[in-house]
Amino acid sequence: MLKFSCLTTSLLLTALMANAQGGNPKDTELWTPVPKVVAMSSESQIAPADAIILFNGKNLDEWETVKDKSAAKWIVSGDMFTVKKGTGNIQTKRTFNNYQLHLEWRIPTNITGEGQGRGNSGVFVASTGTGDGGYELQVLDSYNNATYSNGQAGSIYKQFIPLVNASKKPGEWQSYDIIWTAPIFNDNGSLKTPARITVLHNGVLIQNNTEIKGETVYIGAPKYKKHGPTPIKLQDHGDPSPAISFRNIWVREL
Ligand code: MG
Repeated sequence: MLKFSCLTTSLLLTALMANAQGGNPKDTELWTPVPKVVAMSSESQIAPADAIILFNGKNLDEWETVKDKSAAKWIVSGDMFTVKKGTGNIQTKRTFNNYQLHLEWRIPTNITGEGQGRGNSGVFVASTGTGDGGYELQVLDSYNNATYSNGQAGSIYKQFIPLVNASKKPGEWQSYDIIWTAPIFNDNGSLKTPARITVLHNGVLIQNNTEIKGETVYIGAPKYKKHGPTPIKLQDHGDPSPAISFRNIWVREL
């Protein structure tokens, strides 16, 4: 009975306060635009209905070798593909500005090496030029592998340390969910607004709207150089440890 009377009093107070504000709650309701429906139905569906599938488990038709634009030579088997060492980085044939990207990667159980030489790859969220040009979100075995913190898995290479280490052990599939906001440049090539990135590693937030300093580089300071829409690139690092694999890659343009 006491509970009921407390609730009644509380409702009465809310109504009195709303009245005291002297407004109509409908004044602050927005009914348009109505968000587009994105079908998210069956459990077997691997991506939202409005996503572009970049790897469907069957072929690398969406990808090309960066250095000569030839067909991607990495090895498709089962529902995944594996880096074919020495064939070079691969990138999407499509180009993107702002997007949401999902991909999964796996360090093999027989991984060897240490530090940067243990399962090194990378997601260049925007690829510029050939080689390692662009902005690299590091892929590495960081389950139990010491290296410089701004070079471990989930780092923006040599710029930003991940908020936490959410790495799974070799042999287990790991996911990156990335929200990328591309940089904007002025006509004269100078930077107007820097790029930003948010990353979840295995569902855990590791980069929170991080403001990128420029393209990631091995030596020296990062800097921006003007570019337009860019491919997404995966790294063939060249370290001698066993090759890593990827699967289930999709992107939603924003
Ligand atoms: Mg790398």
